[in-house]
Amino acid sequence: MSQNKTLFERSQKVIPGGVNSPVRAFKSVGGTPIFFKKGLGSKLWDEDGCEYIEYINSWGPMILGHAHPQVLKAVQEASFDSLSFGAPTKRELEMAELLVKLVPSIEQVRLVSSGTEATMSAIRVARGFTKRDTLVKFEGCYHGHADALLVKAGSGLLTFGEPSSAGVPEDVAKHTLTLPYNDIDALKTLFKEKGDTIATVIIEPVVGNMNLIIPHMEFLKTLRELCTKHGAVLIFDEVMTGFRVHLGGAQALYGITPDLTTLGKVIGGGLPVGAFGGRRDIMQCLAPIGAVYQAGTLSGNPVAVAAGLATLKLVQAPNFYEELTKKTKSLVDGLTKAAHDLDVKFSAQSVGGMFGMYFSEKAPTSFDEIMQSNKEQFNQFFHHMLSSGFYFGPSAFEAGFVSISHTDQDIHQTIEAAKKAFKVLK
Ligand SMILES: *Cc1c(COP(=O)(O)O)cnc(C)c1O
Repeated sequence: MSQNKTLFERSQKVIPGGVNSPVRAFKSVGGTPIFFKKGLGSKLWDEDGCEYIEYINSWGPMILGHAHPQVLKAVQEASFDSLSFGAPTKRELEMAELLVKLVPSIEQVRLVSSGTEATMSAIRVARGFTKRDTLVKFEGCYHGHADALLVKAGSGLLTFGEPSSAGVPEDVAKHTLTLPYNDIDALKTLFKEKGDTIATVIIEPVVGNMNLIIPHMEFLKTLRELCTKHGAVLIFDEVMTGFRVHLGGAQALYGITPDLTTLGKVIGGGLPVGAFGGRRDIMQCLAPIGAVYQAGTLSGNPVAVAAGLATLKLVQAPNFYEELTKKTKSLVDGLTKAAHDLDVKFSAQSVGGMFGMYFSEKAPTSFDEIMQSNKEQFNQFFHHMLSSGFYFGPSAFEAGFVSISHTDQDIHQTIEAAKKAFKVLK
């Protein structure tokens, strides 16, 4: 029997569902999750010794590829000086200075240990600053698993949300409003009715958590204008897009400045680092100088920050994002052509090092549209590619990722394998 099966059976006895984060369980695509043992560059090896070219990058962080020697060296060096102090260190200052320098909207920043912590804390400081409670988010965006964010739309546009997870009190969910992505009219209506009660709007400026959805520029511009007009704090959740679509994040790519930004994934280079930052007047509301409490035993952890600093140093290389964008585009263009040559209803697109592929004629622009894509075909494609040694995200509703270590040869092989997979789709 394969090690993957044996290990998954053992895991299910002691870990709920056998996994420490739900998407890893392959529930959406069916079959047994792969247990990985080793990674190098664009490749992974599982516990059976099978080799894969991978397109998840650990859901984003591994933008340099796996086991990058300079990142490993930085981690080793930092670790010899102790793993944690719970006191200020020079490395975290260097990380903060770098984020302020590279991300246009960030004047001050605080480090945390995950994206979930970053968004949760950004929302709290936005509420403390505005002295309002209402939180607005968009359907299909994911911002971590804090209570206030596990909320789906109520029965009408202007009705408050309902919990989307058991264990979230209605009293918490009732402060969250959910709007459709890319819908300018819905935005205008909401602000007209409730604008002056809105504390904050949180958005993925390019969505990566319902597969890839690209924002309409007019939508983002309108959102920025309405938040400014009504005194609501605009949070760009760039946990995924930060240092992934552009050196300065989606805000630099589109030229729109949010009030607060949340970061994670790439800024830890594979170790747990998150951050939230933005306007100085808002960030000054945080304890110990302000009244909004936020803290963390391992926040700014020296080893994690060393991995992040080494990663951020390398992404500043000349033409890094041009090259990453080109690689990713060559993958999606190749896949699209292969599918169309075989009359498969398929589309694909990319922004920087993120991509989406959809079993639908046109690339979707909202949650409703993505839900109409052919999930069964995605699952067949996924399993065919997996058994041929190509590891994509195990769900039709996740974005894909290309690292700078992916070679033209890797991408060529992937497209050749995809041709075979497209041929056998039912
Ligand atoms: C991954 C992600 C999060 C959550 O980050 P974790 O580190 O998993 O807690 C939040 N927002 C976005 C946009 C993400 O992609």
